[in-house]
Amino acid sequence: MSSNPSESWPSNVFEAGMDTNWKENIDDKFIDLNNVKDDIKSIIFKVLNGTRITIDEGVKLHDECDLPTLANIANKLKLARFSNYVFFNRNLHVNQTNVCVLACKFCAFREGPKSDEAYSLSIEEYLNRIEPYKNHISEVHTVGGLHNEWTIEYYTSLFSATKEKYPHLQIKALTAVEIKHLAIMSGLEIHDVLKKLKNSGLDSIPGGGAEILDDEVRNHICKGKESSNEYLSIHKAAHELGIPTNCTMLFGTIETTRQRIVHMDKLRLLQDQTNGFQCFVPYPFLPDKTRLPEAQLATANEILRTVAMSRIMLDNIPHIKSYRMNLGDDISALALLHGADDIDGTVSHEEIMHKAGSTTPLDQIDADLANLIEQIGGVPVERNTDYTIFRKFRKLPPSDNKGLPVAYG
Ligand code: SF4
Repeated sequence: MSSNPSESWPSNVFEAGMDTNWKENIDDKFIDLNNVKDDIKSIIFKVLNGTRITIDEGVKLHDECDLPTLANIANKLKLARFSNYVFFNRNLHVNQTNVCVLACKFCAFREGPKSDEAYSLSIEEYLNRIEPYKNHISEVHTVGGLHNEWTIEYYTSLFSATKEKYPHLQIKALTAVEIKHLAIMSGLEIHDVLKKLKNSGLDSIPGGGAEILDDEVRNHICKGKESSNEYLSIHKAAHELGIPTNCTMLFGTIETTRQRIVHMDKLRLLQDQTNGFQCFVPYPFLPDKTRLPEAQLATANEILRTVAMSRIMLDNIPHIKSYRMNLGDDISALALLHGADDIDGTVSHEEIMHKAGSTTPLDQIDADLANLIEQIGGVPVERNTDYTIFRKFRKLPPSDNKGLPVAYG
């Protein structure tokens, strides 16, 4: 990682731009533990020593530590890895189809194949969606429903055509359940699906669909989706092929604190084996227009507590994202003080979260995002999809542009 914030710096998909000596950088000063119980204090000392905590300790910390202390610890871990840099990339979300053969209870996006609201983009329509933004983005992010007719040929043609027309764009696409669905539709093994997708231009995989990695919870909120083990094994297969991925957690439905912490533990155990997760994205359930009235919903306290616990538990996943599309500007800015280091960049089309009630404006200019970052004391840094190129946000076009789009502030 560059020591000079005015520079660009390259990295690799494993280090993803972080200071690898982060454990030695943890600042254990300025933490007031006078009102903290002894058993919580001993967990905090472990964290500040850079030692991994157990599931039981994570549950205790989540449930019994006051939020300002939790925020302070998580922020110190973030600062040890990334100083005060806050990362964003400039991407476009294009959801290729809303047709889905499943009907997850929390989903406000899917439509049945015969619905009047159903759509399925042709390759030309997909490229037309990118065209107006081609000079402003470095990534196209594509996820959608489980189409009842499409096989892998649609996607290999789509990715090849995208790379041919826009070679500067990185493609982040397809969640684990979409990959599983493509394997079934195409009569292929997961490994072969991933290989074909990679060869046609897929650069990385988003983490969507993890929900809560507990099959009892999954059977209630997303029956028919991949099992917890399938989610993990699909990501493992991607990592083994050199495809970096993100991972997520949808919280605030019916899960317990322990189920959230166990979810994080499952991810870090896989990461110990593969080192292929680059970013964890925790986001709360948004209730509007969906079919899960029993959801407990997450308060602001709980959202920030969960972000902080993500940073503390996931000691081997570099980035924690503040998912602005879902959290809104106010909470997402606060999340950057609770251990998150990454925030959504310019997103010009996003249908899933907006149908579920998200109110964040879609066409935010980069300067707004830079202001949001600076107001919490951060230094905005552009990154590419797989966290291998970084550049401090500048007001003027840089002369050393190496593929990242120009950011104006
Ligand atoms: S969450 Fe995904 S798999 Fe589930 S219904 Fe919605 S689009 Fe389909």
